[in-house]
Amino acid sequence: MNGQEKGGTLVSPFFAGLLCRCPECGRGKLLRGLLDVRAACEDCGLDYSPHDTGDGPAVFVILIVGGLAVTLAFMVENAFALPVWAHLIYQIPFVLGASILLLRPLKATLIALQYRHHVAGFNDKPSD
Ligand SMILES: [Zn+2]
Repeated sequence: MNGQEKGGTLVSPFFAGLLCRCPECGRGKLLRGLLDVRAACEDCGLDYSPHDTGDGPAVFVILIVGGLAVTLAFMVENAFALPVWAHLIYQIPFVLGASILLLRPLKATLIALQYRHHVAGFNDKPSD
């Protein structure tokens, strides 16, 4: 990401979300720990407090991981005809792991999209 303008108009929300970076500058970290949002960007000082993703990231995780888990179960059942309990051996780690891996970038992407589209109090100041 070279050539970023002041105001962060050139930072893609999907780039910022995938890397869990600040939607304004694309450099500062957005999240602390697993899912806690920092108070402000350590690089540009953007206040993150207006964000409000609610259950949005969890809904996307449920839809994506649920679809993948069902597809995987059908493929394994078709290939090996396992009993139901045997599916749990790989399904539980898959669902837990995929959910944890996807939650961070999906939450960061939703926050970046809120920032880009001036939702939830982001960028209430008049542009100059
Ligand atoms: Zn920043």
